[in-house]
Amino acid sequence: MPTEVDEFRELARKYWAGEAIECPKHRGVTMTGSFVQTTFADHLFLTCPRGKETIQIPQRPKQMEFFDQQVEGLVENLQRGDQILCYRCQSKMEVDTKENPNTGYADYTFTCVRCFSWGTWSGHPSAAKIGSAPTAGTQKKKQ
Ligand SMILES: [Zn+2]
Ligand SMILES: [Zn+2]
Repeated sequence: MPTEVDEFRELARKYWAGEAIECPKHRGVTMTGSFVQTTFADHLFLTCPRGKETIQIPQRPKQMEFFDQQVEGLVENLQRGDQILCYRCQSKMEVDTKENPNTGYADYTFTCVRCFSWGTWSGHPSAAKIGSAPTAGTQKKKQ
């Protein structure tokens, strides 16, 4: 089951991508959305034309998708047992891990609980090596 954080992430992602936003409660119904800027709390405001229900998604800061290297850094933090914090607003991030028990490969999805910025990373966790060894990152393998 996707959490509310996952749901908000997807709704916000679709909004910023300009995609149709299907109402979570009414299949096939497209919600109308607008970005509302106020002094205290920018947010997305979505309205369902069928049920008239509304969804408010905080957007200060605005959602963004993290770069691969940033997400790899999060995977590394995760393995070290460090806190996983959003690069954008320093809030906690929710981590969704799907691991293949046979290969050890895993798919990670990190989502900020506050701004819903997110990033995904797939691979063997031990391959996440950004910054763990000071010399590893400085040597370029590919020219
Ligand atoms: Zn609805
Ligand atoms: Zn954030």
